[in-house]
Amino acid sequence: MAFTFNELAETLEQQRQNRYGALLAVAHDLRNPLAALKTTVALTERRRSQGTLSPEQLDQQQRRIATQVNRLNRMVSDLVDMTRIELGRVELDTQTNDLRDLVIEADELFEDASPIHQLVMDLPPEPLMVCCDATRIGQVLNNLISNAIKYSPQGGVVELRAGTEGRWAWVEVEDHGLGIAPKDHLRIFEPFQRVGRKEEIPGVGLGLSAARRLMEAHEGRIEVESALGKGSTFKIRLPLRQKDEGPKGERPGASMDQRP
Ligand code: ADP
Repeated sequence: MAFTFNELAETLEQQRQNRYGALLAVAHDLRNPLAALKTTVALTERRRSQGTLSPEQLDQQQRRIATQVNRLNRMVSDLVDMTRIELGRVELDTQTNDLRDLVIEADELFEDASPIHQLVMDLPPEPLMVCCDATRIGQVLNNLISNAIKYSPQGGVVELRAGTEGRWAWVEVEDHGLGIAPKDHLRIFEPFQRVGRKEEIPGVGLGLSAARRLMEAHEGRIEVESALGKGSTFKIRLPLRQKDEGPKGERPGASMDQRP
């Protein structure tokens, strides 16, 4: 009993460390755009009081401020959204979609994201019809592609593939980056789990847990195959739309609130 108690205490302590570690990472990430804002505002004030602020400089400073404010806004919105998903407080808006369109949209979004990465797409000629919330599945794909880029800091090819397997439609995102040790393959889908000493790469550790929740809410799956130093392949699966399903594909469990 003492052993179990100690184990429990250790788990709780680990969770506490993860939570505060994540909080620290968020605070740290928010501090950078805030510091840039502070510098820009101080500089503008100094020039204004010295009477040396030209209209062009004012324009430039305003653009800088707008960029940083947008960045902060995006970070805070992402954090709020992912926390809501984690808490199961998201309604899905399911429609019939061709999964290939969502892959193409995600590819377009990241096409010019990094000069040292090349996105390569391999899609089947036939449609991959699924019932899903296009925004949320887009969000999952964006997260996987963004991770593939982030965690292959030396650059390289990121492959996007899609196809069918039995009653499933699937999409794979493969990178040739840092990879993940087998012992961490399950852990990375838990909230706030960042593995493999990747502190210098920005992130909070909520993307994959949100992705897992979203895939489960779609009665789908997410899985990973990866080897340290070789790269990773993340695969999502969604049930192919059945002929007798309604246009919106209403299925029980389509709301995240229905999770136990
Ligand atoms: P974040 O990227 O914000 O840390 P995620 O939940 O998206 O959060 O990922 C959790 C962890 O899984 C990451 O911190 C990283 O350690 C690992 N990881 C995710 N994707 C990859 C990848 N493509 N290659 C290597 N490691 C990855």
